Amino acid sequence: MTTETVLDVRDLCVSFGEIEPVRGVSFALRRGERLGLVGESGSGKSLTALAIMRLARRATLRGEVLLEGRDLLKLKPREMERIRGGRVAMVYQDPMSALNPVFTIGRQLEEAIRLHGIADRSAARERAIELLDDVGVPHPARRVEQYPHEFSGGMRQRVMIAMAMCADPAVLICDEPTTALDVTTQARIMDLLDRLVDERGTAVMLITHDLGVAAGFCDTVQVMYGGRIVERTEAEPLYGTPLHPYTEALLGAAVDLTLDLDQPIPTIGGQPPLAGRLPQGCSFHPRCRYARDVCTAQAPLLEEVAGRLVECHLADERAAAAKEDTHVGA
Ligand code: SF4
Repeated sequence: MTTETVLDVRDLCVSFGEIEPVRGVSFALRRGERLGLVGESGSGKSLTALAIMRLARRATLRGEVLLEGRDLLKLKPREMERIRGGRVAMVYQDPMSALNPVFTIGRQLEEAIRLHGIADRSAARERAIELLDDVGVPHPARRVEQYPHEFSGGMRQRVMIAMAMCADPAVLICDEPTTALDVTTQARIMDLLDRLVDERGTAVMLITHDLGVAAGFCDTVQVMYGGRIVERTEAEPLYGTPLHPYTEALLGAAVDLTLDLDQPIPTIGGQPPLAGRLPQGCSFHPRCRYARDVCTAQAPLLEEVAGRLVECHLADERAAAAKEDTHVGA
């Protein structure tokens, strides 16, 4: 992995009138980096991605989204159309909604290839077959003639990845790309993404509510809550010693397949806040088992603690306790 930054998001805010579901999100993504964006539904993960793609309809966007140095928020719609699917591409959770059921897979791939000027009409079919082969679709020369409904869910997702990768984007955003798939297909799709990233050096932002998927794939993980990043660090320490209580709660609620069936499924108590009705102070305080008076009075800031970014009044204290536990356990 190089240190070259390809995407630099600075203080991104997404609002719909008075309501602001994404509130000052900043992060950078390096070439070849695998970044996980995790959190419950409604935390602002997908909206952050849509804002980067300039697909957050009717939203007001503030801040900067620098892709290879160009601020996407300043581009005219026409310019953005060339970049979208070219230098930054997206894979969605439900490939069926992104594929047109009335056109063959080959026709749709060829269109994407021609749109980004990768090949002319005569060479586009050949390139489409190569792309399908690349993402592991068997018998690609035959499958290009087929329609989306003739593909399984996993194969459709491979087609979406082929389409997203056709212009060799610098950044690939994957929004819950394996949620609708069974565990085996899920693993195959993640392996495919892993291989493509290794071969091409693409930077990937993986949006997922599944901490297991993020753990297996990501170098860095950032946790979102209430439209803010509340913790960001390398994957390994995050899973070993979560510093933010929300990260800890998410990990505690992760599905444990070794649990007896008669044991209750662990959950995080309470509900994520609605964007227009954030509690005063720390937005996690109504659900936080560690909350103190200061948490209801004052919102914490995202600060560097023990080599990671954490937005919690108790971050220093919790980092010291985690260090102590490590020493005791050593
Ligand atoms: Fe919990 Fe307080 Fe930290 Fe918020 S600031 S996560 S309420 S301890």
